[in-house]
Amino acid sequence: MNRNSRAVPVGPLLMGGDNPVIIQTMWDKPLTRDLAEEREALEKMAAMGCGLVRFAAPSRDGAEQLGRLAEQTSMPLVADIHFDYRIALKCMDYPLAKIRINPGNIGESWKTEEVIRKAADRGVALRVGANEGSLPRELRGAQNRAAAMVEAAAEQLNILEKLNFRNAVVSLKSSDVEICRQANRIFAGQYDYPLHLGVTEAGPLIPSLVKSTLALGDLLREGIGDTIRISISDSPFREIMAARELLANLGMGSRPHVNIVSCPKCGRTTFDTHKFTEEIESYLYSINKNLTVAVMGCVVNGPGEAQHADLGITGMGDKIALFHKGEIIGRAPLCEAKEAFLKELEKLL
Ligand code: SF4
Repeated sequence: MNRNSRAVPVGPLLMGGDNPVIIQTMWDKPLTRDLAEEREALEKMAAMGCGLVRFAAPSRDGAEQLGRLAEQTSMPLVADIHFDYRIALKCMDYPLAKIRINPGNIGESWKTEEVIRKAADRGVALRVGANEGSLPRELRGAQNRAAAMVEAAAEQLNILEKLNFRNAVVSLKSSDVEICRQANRIFAGQYDYPLHLGVTEAGPLIPSLVKSTLALGDLLREGIGDTIRISISDSPFREIMAARELLANLGMGSRPHVNIVSCPKCGRTTFDTHKFTEEIESYLYSINKNLTVAVMGCVVNGPGEAQHADLGITGMGDKIALFHKGEIIGRAPLCEAKEAFLKELEKLL
């Protein structure tokens, strides 16, 4: 059940209300001069189901470069701004979908107000909110850490609401799973702004997946959360894959999904399932069809254990075998495994 957040326009998207949860990630390096790498990556991210990508804009030159990128892509972009309100103003001369600001580090209130007025004028959404690690001084050390985060967000929303600005998205992030859950629950009980969910500084792949699944999984099941970022010390593509998996397994995915099953390998294996899965996974996330794909290590158990798979590949001595619903449909030498698998996969699309 959704808590009925208000729907806020974010570029071409509607965030909140009954709209699907939007997957977002953050670009993890400085922008290149010709932006070719970024354009290509954004295209791939869109194909993988990502709806929104955030970029740091650390300077006014950086804002112009990001603005140029926004002009060259159909992916809605978010500018992440700290300290200098003029960067936010510059960003809004370009088609950015959303600006993330922290009024607490922008300085005098008139600076934040200028940003809000221009956002209202240009129809740009603003993201505000609190990270537990950067609460205002008076709230640091509060006994109820989750309530302190909500209080910090409320103070920021007051500034926006005084100017009748309502196109806001709020985030309440902590690296502590329980605090993250509590803060978002408290906020959701008091406000209808869309919530951006995430565990901050969640760590490398494994800790992040565990923490994010625990925190975000529970909140989403309660109808709380309108956009998610699974923050991982790894590539943004992995963040998208993790978010897709989470939403698909909660039955909340907005598009068809390839369910990947693969065996962990054991002493019987004749096929490197780990390497093969890594090679094909980002492609599988770009497929817009409900399918189950299996990557298994041996023919002794592989086709049997994955007999529900629409397409499976398994080791078979010095060859691989391809199977459909448990029946072997082809064989190929190990060196042609990928080519043979992709050829069969294409027949299903
Ligand atoms: S499918 Fe074969 S290789 Fe993989 S774990 Fe099972 S028995 Fe081991």
